[in-house]
Amino acid sequence: MDFSGPWTRASSAAGLLVDGQARPTVFARMSARAAELGALNLGQGFPDDQPPQVVAEAAVSAIRAGRNQYPPGAGEAELREAITRHQADWYGLHWDPTHEVLVTTGATEALAATLLALVRPGDEVITLEPFYDQYAALIALAGGVHRTVPVTSRTDDRGDLVLVVDEAELRGAFSERTRMVLVNSPHNPTGLMLWVGALQAILEEAERHDALIVTDEVYEHLTFGPAHLPIATLPGAQERTVSISSAGKTFSVTGWKIGWITARRELITAITGAKQWLTYTSGAPFQPAVAAGLALPPSAFHDIASDLRERRDLLTKGLREIGFRVSVPEAGYFAVADAAPFGEADAAALCERLPEEAGVVAIPLSAFYRGGRAGDAASYLRLAFCKSRDTIEQSLERLEAWAAPRR
Ligand code: PMP
Ligand code: GLN
Repeated sequence: MDFSGPWTRASSAAGLLVDGQARPTVFARMSARAAELGALNLGQGFPDDQPPQVVAEAAVSAIRAGRNQYPPGAGEAELREAITRHQADWYGLHWDPTHEVLVTTGATEALAATLLALVRPGDEVITLEPFYDQYAALIALAGGVHRTVPVTSRTDDRGDLVLVVDEAELRGAFSERTRMVLVNSPHNPTGLMLWVGALQAILEEAERHDALIVTDEVYEHLTFGPAHLPIATLPGAQERTVSISSAGKTFSVTGWKIGWITARRELITAITGAKQWLTYTSGAPFQPAVAAGLALPPSAFHDIASDLRERRDLLTKGLREIGFRVSVPEAGYFAVADAAPFGEADAAALCERLPEEAGVVAIPLSAFYRGGRAGDAASYLRLAFCKSRDTIEQSLERLEAWAAPRR
């Protein structure tokens, strides 16, 4: 019997099949490897941290209070209001909590519902490359055509990797076929934040070609220098932008799967049409808990980011001392390191061996490229620093022991 359905066709179109079979995502595969070998997991981006106490307690209280049945499809009113207040207080963006906010099952479902609702067969969707792996699968499932703008790298005076996007290339990706540009800033896997000039260029081209802007801002609060700037805040952008975020990263609750969308009413209505058939509704007791998190004072968000920043510094400094060429990310969970100094030209092959050779799991950057073709980035690894200091320190010791005979 043939078990292939729309996902198989989409995965095939997105180059995600191996021997005709869908395989687990690179994150799931590498986490399984880590568990199997007892290796330290700097692969999948989930934190070792616990959520803020008030957030955890609010979920427990909600379960005890019996908030365990289907909440409204659009999300609990208190969460929609908290999202609205968060957007207003942090970014000066004003939304109607009844018609312009949709709670979703993580950013994952928000992205799925948005693309399935708004991309028509043959429409072009622009993303950066490398890109979060889900994008290619969703664009293919919606029958869209994926166009990418490369993130390229150079070396700075200190010998560090610097990852950049060329504004002219961003503009050049747009055409009359462009339906949507999917803006992931801060960016997974590189931690790159698009600067205001790049955001302005995206907006101008989106306006010129009457394209929609969809954002993926799940790392919005995990910034280590300048604050996150949502593209929706640029004059004229809000009406054509679907902004997506999630509680998973900000509050260290990746297993709760609570995300949200803000956009004008017509867009939310169209996206709700898809969401209602995907999950109908999202995790009842976690919604009031995320509302409590979003209401925390700015200092709580800054503390979360600065604690993570220390671990970014610990990991990047350690990798540099070992002899990797590293990029110091401006935001997010991940650092990129080049294994070429150790004669490793193929990070995908290295990441298969590294759990056994070093007892450390990393993700090859090529996993974020179409067909795994990473070009100049073929020797780059992605390493997560959202792990405990202890895990990072031990990983560095193990990587040093691995690297020493190879220098
Ligand atoms: N977008 C990006 C860029 C991500 O890194 C992730 C993974 N955390 C997601 C979306 C999915 O978010 P969620 O866990 O809220 O579904
Ligand atoms: N966002 C996480 C990462 O990039 C993984 C999410 C997932 O496993 N789908 O590592």
